[in-house]
Amino acid sequence: MSLLKKKWGVAIAGLGNYATGQLIPALQQTAHCYLAGIVSGNSSKMGEWKKRYQLPDKNIYTYDNFDSIKDNPDIDIVYVTLPTHLHAEYSIRAVQAGKHVICEKPMAFNIAECDEMMAAAEKANRCIAIGYRLQFDPYHLEMIRLAKEKVYGEIKSIDTAFSFMPQAGEWRLNKTVAGGGPLMDVGIYCIQAVCYITGITPLSVTAHAVPVSDSKKFIGIEETIHFQLEMPGGVIAHCRSSFSEETGYLKVNCSNGWFELDPAYNFSGLKMNTSDGKNFDMHIISQQATQMDNMALAFQNNQPSIASAEMGKRDMIIMAAVYEAMKTGKRVDIKIP
Ligand code: NAD
Repeated sequence: MSLLKKKWGVAIAGLGNYATGQLIPALQQTAHCYLAGIVSGNSSKMGEWKKRYQLPDKNIYTYDNFDSIKDNPDIDIVYVTLPTHLHAEYSIRAVQAGKHVICEKPMAFNIAECDEMMAAAEKANRCIAIGYRLQFDPYHLEMIRLAKEKVYGEIKSIDTAFSFMPQAGEWRLNKTVAGGGPLMDVGIYCIQAVCYITGITPLSVTAHAVPVSDSKKFIGIEETIHFQLEMPGGVIAHCRSSFSEETGYLKVNCSNGWFELDPAYNFSGLKMNTSDGKNFDMHIISQQATQMDNMALAFQNNQPSIASAEMGKRDMIIMAAVYEAMKTGKRVDIKIP
């Protein structure tokens, strides 16, 4: 991989909704990376995307010949957009093939897999970043600024929720594929937001799940979970995530007012409100293009992305504590190493 190369080549592994609806279009707007290849098990999808973006045959991989990507200098980064149970396997195979990795959230199925991914990346001297797009969104960056500069005073509490309704049969409803329910899929955004808004990590958590409304649809996973993250200094973040409602907001309550995003977690159309009626109208960009450019630049400079594997593991540790609190009904301490 040459550092002099202007744009780094990205191969997208998994041609599902997020890859084809968001990431591949975003790669047409990036300055530091471009769509160089695809990895898929579906020959008709491969043919379609190959034709649409005039990808050479040598840059099209199946899951079976994926490891031979190591011999392809066109590919610098593998972006893993497969279901959660495959994140560790493909991230590890990609770093072993000498590629940097962007792995979608949640980083892995469990904390042990995060450790295996990080060890493999270190051994191969490659970086793994997590697809946390909102760390690069201007509205979220403005929320972070308002919090950091105490524009509305000290943070007193946070209210946030992210919920959506998956279709019956989706892998998100299958615990052996997804690792959990809405917490792992979208509640993770609430955890992310609480950490980057406060700039600290939670000390402990209490949680409870609402009894499921459909025992055939929600097997072994929570349908709706409420959890309270207790931050150092006494701030409590009230969080909710569900697979049976559609919502997404983030409100930060402070000593001299409040600021919020509603909607907070969408790909576009975010809206910011403040207690003093300020109007924020940010330049609309592709979150994913900014995210991938930022990550490609970090990799080129041999730096971890701000959305690092360590952060992905931190969030897995927090989610494991949330699940433990949900199961035991007790307050659970969160120990980030
Ligand atoms: P999807 O179901 O639309 O796509 C999954 C892809 O993986 C499909 O192409 C499917 O064929 C393929 N696949 C390969 N092996 C599979 C298996 N054993 N089971 C099921 N599918 C298999 O899902 P998606 O919504 O595109 O999500 C993919 C990843 O992207 C997930 O990790 C998800 O959390 C993440 N995602 C991130 C965001 C974000 O905003 N960062 C948004 C949506 C999804």
